[in-house]
Amino acid sequence: MADFWVTEAMNGFGMTVQVEAELCRRQSKYQKIELYQTKKLGRLLLLDGIIQLTDFDEFAYHEMLANLPMFAHDNPRRALVIGGGDGGVLRELGRHPELETIDICEIDEEVINVAREFLPEISCGYDDPRVRVHIADGSEFVKDKPESYDVIIVDSTDPGGPGAPLFGEAFYRDMKRALRPGGVIATQAESPYLLPEIVARLNAVSKRIFRSTGYASIMVPTYPTGMIGACVAGDREDVRIPARPIPPELARQLRYYNTELHRAAFTTPNFVTRLLNA
Ligand code: SAM
Repeated sequence: MADFWVTEAMNGFGMTVQVEAELCRRQSKYQKIELYQTKKLGRLLLLDGIIQLTDFDEFAYHEMLANLPMFAHDNPRRALVIGGGDGGVLRELGRHPELETIDICEIDEEVINVAREFLPEISCGYDDPRVRVHIADGSEFVKDKPESYDVIIVDSTDPGGPGAPLFGEAFYRDMKRALRPGGVIATQAESPYLLPEIVARLNAVSKRIFRSTGYASIMVPTYPTGMIGACVAGDREDVRIPARPIPPELARQLRYYNTELHRAAFTTPNFVTRLLNA
């Protein structure tokens, strides 16, 4: 097949990747799922035309989304992932022997099926015996889980489509109720260049609900604007400071996250600081 290019276009912005072959195209009940073999970046997953990951840089996003809340907590035992059907956050959580249970609540079973078939190095996260899969809307799932989790990670699509309720204040309040004392959340919090109003809103909501909150920047070249953020929050002294060191065995496996970066990621440029204080 001749080479061609795939573009994610959003808000007057585009991110284009050269691809060699379309490996999969499915319409699930919730979204259009596309998977390509790219020329230079390994495999590429899109949902409704929006880039979710490439093999090239998925480690940056998945390591940060998993490890920021895991190390903001001094003793996490029970984790919940909402969204994250590709399995990347599960894979990172699986590197933590201290976790006793890892639940995932993904709305679209077809995303899991596609990841299992085409993204084995990412979906291997499902092979961990501590993982329990729930197919449901995460915003409903958390409602009846009082004091159940130490860490909740929301690896969601953007606010359009099935991810919409995961960006509302009610969901953040429900997550707080689902946390055990001292629990920490980390949520996909968009790019301040692309969606500044969402960065500002999620931060304002978190500040109203949690004692400590912060916006961490993550460099991901294949997301439009080359970056994305995580909103990290919890009823702790300061989630921006790691609560414990990284065990050397885990540190050797990580390609992006480290203790210095945990602190540094929350240092924001002035225009972002203003968004966070708006
Ligand atoms: N890292 C990605 C990004 O930001 O581009 C997100 C990856 S992950 C594939 C996003 C997942 O969230 C999708 O599989 C989607 O089906 C799931 N999702 C969207 N809305 C959801 C909801 N309300 N409850 C549970 N999962 C949801």
